[in-house]
Amino acid sequence: APLPLKDPGLFREANHVGGRWITARDGATIAVTNPATGALLGHVPSLSRAEIGDAVAAAHAAQAGWRARTAKERAAVLRRLFELMIDNQEDLARIMTAEQGKPLAEARGEILYAASFIEWFAEEAKRVYGDTIPQNVSGRRIIVQKEPIGVFAAITPWNFPTAMITRKAGPGWAAGCTGVIRPADDTPFSALAIAVLAERAGMPPGVCNIVTGDASESGKELCANPLVRKLSFTGSTRVGAILLAQCAPTIKKTSMELGGNAPFIVFDDADLDAAVAGAMASKYRNTGQTCVCANRFLVQDGIYDAFAAKLVEAVRALKVGDGTEDGVTQGPLISRNALGKVQRHVDDAVKRGARVLTGGGGHALGGTFYDPTVLADVPRDADIFSDETFGPVAPLFRFGTEAEAIAMANDTPFGLAGYFYTRDVGRVFRVAEALEVGMVGINEGIISTEVAPFGGVKASGLGREGSKYGIDDYLEIKFLCLGGI
Ligand code: ADP
Repeated sequence: APLPLKDPGLFREANHVGGRWITARDGATIAVTNPATGALLGHVPSLSRAEIGDAVAAAHAAQAGWRARTAKERAAVLRRLFELMIDNQEDLARIMTAEQGKPLAEARGEILYAASFIEWFAEEAKRVYGDTIPQNVSGRRIIVQKEPIGVFAAITPWNFPTAMITRKAGPGWAAGCTGVIRPADDTPFSALAIAVLAERAGMPPGVCNIVTGDASESGKELCANPLVRKLSFTGSTRVGAILLAQCAPTIKKTSMELGGNAPFIVFDDADLDAAVAGAMASKYRNTGQTCVCANRFLVQDGIYDAFAAKLVEAVRALKVGDGTEDGVTQGPLISRNALGKVQRHVDDAVKRGARVLTGGGGHALGGTFYDPTVLADVPRDADIFSDETFGPVAPLFRFGTEAEAIAMANDTPFGLAGYFYTRDVGRVFRVAEALEVGMVGINEGIISTEVAPFGGVKASGLGREGSKYGIDDYLEIKFLCLGGI
């Protein structure tokens, strides 16, 4: 049955290139299914590498015209796109839940979050300032201007199908760049709906190109094509490393939002209820499938049992099911592969001596639904300590001292987000400064917002998205030296 949309025109089984809706020349397609039901939702084109190259050429052709507009004119188009996203929030959320599985309430929230990047960067477009620098030699003037970098490519994941696009394309478009966006195979319809709205907002042909196709072939073209001047990627560290290597020959600027292994530290002096509420939001949102999800709960001896008991109570109150049903808080995992990894992590921890406090296996609904799980007394050599689970499993590790907690937290190649709960002001700064991460939640379990810089250190990536910093990645600095005055 077709999706119940107020505006069926938002659901497009075609790609958007150079202002036209196209299919693959050879007719190849990719099937998209609903992870909650397994039902077929539709097909999107599987473009060849050459056709991805055509999309880059279309973006390049549109570049001069878009960049020549004033920032205020670009901002007006982005503002209309923001408003259209808000007006169509319900349909966009329904498309997202159908292809991604998250509960409708979360999908509605993601549409607001995604739209906020368009609004924010519409405003930031007008604040791309340069500099004048006192001359080093008399008779000279030294001027610094910022210019759009050129065509950007965005390769985005399935866990936030809309927000990961607007967080990249918003600053790109605002800066005066044109782009080629390649969404994940699992969630292309959310992306294509944005192209429909961008067109309605008056975005000129070729500014917003959205293509679907084989991941590896599209990635090769977007990395190797010399017309692409910047690649922004969100996904796994494994694929990020492949893309960085593929970008090396053409010396591309890159932004990489990669995997995490977030510690969530609960100190003895924490507000227990607040820590449990933060843990629930950080761990179980999107069924544990976010790159900033708490992956390791480090809990101090004195509060360990009380925290475990309260967490289990909260986890048992979660409702697993199809995201379109009322009251559901936990959708399915995205795929069988994802389910397999979650189960392997749980089995491995149990084999090494962890206790299952709740959950521990597939949910009675079957499919890729997983029972929200809490594990206690997990040993540090368990796989779940070093590898991102990306599912609804909270492993509790025990520690004694602050120094031990910091050492455990940093004992990973990753450094995206970290969280901790304490009411000691001195400890707030000691721990926040010691954590090797790009983002710290202190007595907060959800920290993402368009106004703050999102990004990681170490193997979690390069660059920052959102905030006043997020537009820098789409700009080049040009120095003008004017002599003979
Ligand atoms: P996840 O675990 O979130 O699926 P991936 O890194 O596998 O993380 O995927 C993130 C995005 O990268 C998706 O759009 C996926 O299709 C794409 N992708 C996967 N492999 C490659 C590749 N070799 N080249 C380019 N893109 C890829």
